[in-house]
Amino acid sequence: MKDIAKKSNTVYLLDKYQIQASKKYGQNFLIDLNTIKKIVNTTNIDKDTCVIEIGPGIGALSEQLSYHAGHVLCYEIDTRLKDVLEESLGEFKNIEVIYQDFLTVDLKNVVDDLKKRYHRVCIVANLPYYITSDILEHIITSNSQLSSIHAMVQKEVAVKLTDQNYHSPLTFMIESVGSISLDMIVSKNVFSPAPHVDSAIIRIELNREYNPLLNFILKPAFTQKRKTIYNNLKGLFHEKTKDILEECHIKENKRPEELKIEDYLKLTQFL
Ligand code: SAM
Repeated sequence: MKDIAKKSNTVYLLDKYQIQASKKYGQNFLIDLNTIKKIVNTTNIDKDTCVIEIGPGIGALSEQLSYHAGHVLCYEIDTRLKDVLEESLGEFKNIEVIYQDFLTVDLKNVVDDLKKRYHRVCIVANLPYYITSDILEHIITSNSQLSSIHAMVQKEVAVKLTDQNYHSPLTFMIESVGSISLDMIVSKNVFSPAPHVDSAIIRIELNREYNPLLNFILKPAFTQKRKTIYNNLKGLFHEKTKDILEECHIKENKRPEELKIEDYLKLTQFL
């Protein structure tokens, strides 16, 4: 089907297959063709690119991606959408849909395989908001050969993630592998059903390997954000905590968000 995002096409598909958007799966479908085209423009994809799309929904974004990308590999958790997607995307030979929870995908293997055929592999997704952080973490910690992530998230999440002065385990993870920027604000009115807040597209350029030991430092370091790094890491390093912090030149009364990614990377050497 052409122009799936047109309101009439969306309504037709949802009515025909009796699909109610599922809150459980964070379903807010894009229903504005112009917005989707603008989103696709921000990704700079071409025929040498394979796009991995998380959650195609009824296929509105997937369709537009397929005009620019070499291949679009979609992961959709909701099997109710099978018939819809067969009708909406069936004619697009460079789109493949796999019905699987993206959080269970072995991304490293998948991307290794795609890299044999495509110069660039990237992720484009209008993310289900209920698992935004889990999905970003899953992608970053997979240590795959992905080039970039282009993800729609809630606007306030995008603003926080791109604020140089805001730090969380996730922002440190992102900083350790590359850089993040905000590409575009998207009004809540271009979704059906409309969410309560506006959205934004973030771009994460991936250019460094992820150090998996960071997982074991960042979470304990932020157990209690208001407490000092000493207090938070005591449970991990026990009586050695003071010495380790000293060796890393980290003041023990600092709060976890006051450290730099370099500090956390140094700390991983003591695990
Ligand atoms: N891409 C469509 C669009 O822009 O109109 C739909 C986006 S909707 C916000 C999120 C999509 O992600 C839904 O299709 C939902 O079923 C799917 N989804 C939710 N959790 C998922 C998961 N763990 N793995 C794969 N897809 C998921």
